[in-house]
Amino acid sequence: MSRTTVALLGATGSIGTQTLEVLRREPERFELTAIAGGAARVDQLIAIAKEFSVARIGVPTNEARETVMEALAGVEVVVGDEGLSELASSADTVVNAVVGFAGLPVTLSALRSGKRLALANKESLIAASTLVEKVRHTRGAELVPIDSEHCAIHQALAGASAEAGYPDVRRLILTASGGPFRGWDSTALDTATKAQALAHPTWSMGPKITIDSSTLMNKGLEVLEASALFGIEVGRVEVVIHPQSVVHSMVEYVDGSVIAQLSKPDMRLPIAYCLGLPERLDHAWGALDFHSPLSLEFFPPDRANFPALSIAYEAARIGGGAPAWMSAANEVAVEAFLGERITWRQIVEIVSTTLDRYEPTPIETLSELLEADRRAREIAIASLPK
Ligand code: NAD
Ligand code: MG
Repeated sequence: MSRTTVALLGATGSIGTQTLEVLRREPERFELTAIAGGAARVDQLIAIAKEFSVARIGVPTNEARETVMEALAGVEVVVGDEGLSELASSADTVVNAVVGFAGLPVTLSALRSGKRLALANKESLIAASTLVEKVRHTRGAELVPIDSEHCAIHQALAGASAEAGYPDVRRLILTASGGPFRGWDSTALDTATKAQALAHPTWSMGPKITIDSSTLMNKGLEVLEASALFGIEVGRVEVVIHPQSVVHSMVEYVDGSVIAQLSKPDMRLPIAYCLGLPERLDHAWGALDFHSPLSLEFFPPDRANFPALSIAYEAARIGGGAPAWMSAANEVAVEAFLGERITWRQIVEIVSTTLDRYEPTPIETLSELLEADRRAREIAIASLPK
């Protein structure tokens, strides 16, 4: 049996590292042929290349390219967005584990080249949903979600009618842990610190998505992600707080049946699901033990104290470039928060004020999208304290 080739882009991060764990357990099934990472942790990229004998490596700068070339003989090293695009067209399955809008070349190139795209990088799909729609029907192309909620929905939709728009589905119900500030009132939230925001109760993830989880912007992004992935309007995508992170999301059918996917929170499960499809890999990551007590709770989200959720629905309602603006402004704000330039409250304020200044643009071409992203960042950066 020939092995499935895998390109893992964003190999040094949280999803990247967990994908490597899955690949280590399946050496006969998968061959890691390409990896890429950002500016930090070039040493880690080199170590991965050595361990898996990877021949093609993507780095963001020429300087990093030199470092990799010196450390490894006989490898091909590609640079920047062009390099990411090239690697994303080079393997059977492409795991997009890059964080933020920087993952865009991976998403577009993998689908355009007719590959299976195992997508963790939600930001590219949200910003570029119209462009993704144009390339995802390329022969052989397949878009499967690593994001745990969407992976759960992908599984729960297995019995649904294949007709576009899922007419027998009433709604998708995304679960959210609520993050570290669940239940905090307005006064307490004024004092929220970076260390507190980074201490997620149920998941260990990269810094950007951890902050997004604390503001509920992650769930807002996921509402748009679900709508784009499954072709279901956001009015049929709901959010429910579920502190245990065991029910990863649900599909409610028109007859009232709710189909859910459950496991312990462990990203190796959705990663293995996306790599193995249509087969299930036999590792039982996240398997539940029903011999010990297990309580599952569900609450409505606190929209007043966590306005990011309503902002995301509003961006979807506006359409066009608004989701791209929202996501770009959020990236700027989260980076500023992690750099301790703004308070936790200001993250969503910056997103909101940037979106208020949205300049309506359709997103039909890549250059229109890049311009929308640039403009939103410009406005968001200008609103940061000097
Ligand atoms: P992370 O910060 O841990 O890792 C990000 C990776 O992207 C690193 O390898 C980094 O080097 C790479 N990167 C950054 N800029 C790059 C660039 N310009 N070119 C190439 N590589 C670049 O982030 P993460 O938590 O692993 O998240 C990755 C993506 O997966 C995000 O979009 C996130 O929303 C999504 N996601 C993550 C989790 C999780 O459990 N961590 C769960 C669901 C979805
Ligand atoms: Mg998620």
